[in-house]
Amino acid sequence: MSNLSQPLTLTCHQCGATYSRPELEPDQWAQCVRCHSVLESYAAFTPFAWLAILLTTFLSLGFANAYPILTLYLQGQAQAATFFDAVSVVWREGYPEVAVITFAAGFLLPVVHLCLLVWVLLPLAFGKLPLFFDATIKIIDHLKPWCMVPVFLLGILVAAIKLAGLASLVVGVGLFATACATIFITSLGRLGERRLRLMALDLGVPAHPPEIPRPPSPSQITRVWALMLAAAIMYVPANFLPIMQITSVGGSSGHTIVGGVIELYQMGSWDIALVVFVASVIVPVFKLVALSVLVAMTQFGAVHGLHRRTQLYRVVEFIGQWSMLDVFVVILLSALGQFGALLSIQPGSGAIAFGAVVILTMLAALSFDPRLAWRRAGHRRHVLSTFNL
Ligand SMILES: [Zn+2]
Repeated sequence: MSNLSQPLTLTCHQCGATYSRPELEPDQWAQCVRCHSVLESYAAFTPFAWLAILLTTFLSLGFANAYPILTLYLQGQAQAATFFDAVSVVWREGYPEVAVITFAAGFLLPVVHLCLLVWVLLPLAFGKLPLFFDATIKIIDHLKPWCMVPVFLLGILVAAIKLAGLASLVVGVGLFATACATIFITSLGRLGERRLRLMALDLGVPAHPPEIPRPPSPSQITRVWALMLAAAIMYVPANFLPIMQITSVGGSSGHTIVGGVIELYQMGSWDIALVVFVASVIVPVFKLVALSVLVAMTQFGAVHGLHRRTQLYRVVEFIGQWSMLDVFVVILLSALGQFGALLSIQPGSGAIAFGAVVILTMLAALSFDPRLAWRRAGHRRHVLSTFNL
């Protein structure tokens, strides 16, 4: 039931090409002819179906935070940790910055994101225009990259493997609930500004049609360079300062990121060592190098490889939050390693520096508008006919 009287225009977020919106059949999607990014895919779910998924997500997040994720047993003592235990331990250890980042990315922002989706979908399900519709769907898009429940899940798995060598470990309900929440949150990630707006229009709700965005501003280049420079500077202490301190009967030792990877490898978990190495060492360096190439080529108006450069930007955007992995691992280990003189694990100052690197590189990637690369290479906005696959 699309609004046929007035054809809508869709603008490609990656290259800025403008299309008239096609009518999609099931299993079809509309793809940009110029840069191949997907403009719209067939919407199979009604607002009611999405609301059912949202309700399940709220329930699994509730269980994920109410029940222990892991319980560690050491010489007759047990230490269970929920998500909130982990946050409060890090706060008490004197790292409020790390505690705030973890609380925001692992709980507060995902919950706000889900609440805003309910705010939009509930009125839509009854054919009404939600209050503050335009502002809300914009905020939903801005919140998405900062909701890191999937990264936290991987963090739990890495922490469990690290501790398995030290003491016996039992996984709790919280872990399975986090896994369920991850699956639902990933599927809800498809509900961005454009999809929600088109959903409203298809339902006959009087929402504004998608507007043609303003041309990308060249002033972003300076901002991206500044953020990347700050990230590169923080990368040095992030790697040289210990991200955690382990005190046991044998003595106290500081652990850096690379040291932790080597340790995992020596414990025989080469696969997990590889995951941590990729997430903590390769991904931040790759992001900085790839963004530098993208920004420099845009700055000089390079005309070649536009398609590949757009793909590279999509990769940088996607992997952004996964480098937060090691910060989450440190937090969980600190919450579980509370056995007094027997074993005590504390976060180190490297964790703050590392968290700063992740946030700065994410801000740099989000500040870069890939449409500028196409514009600088002479591709202005074109109104094109649509290409269906
Ligand atoms: Zn495009």
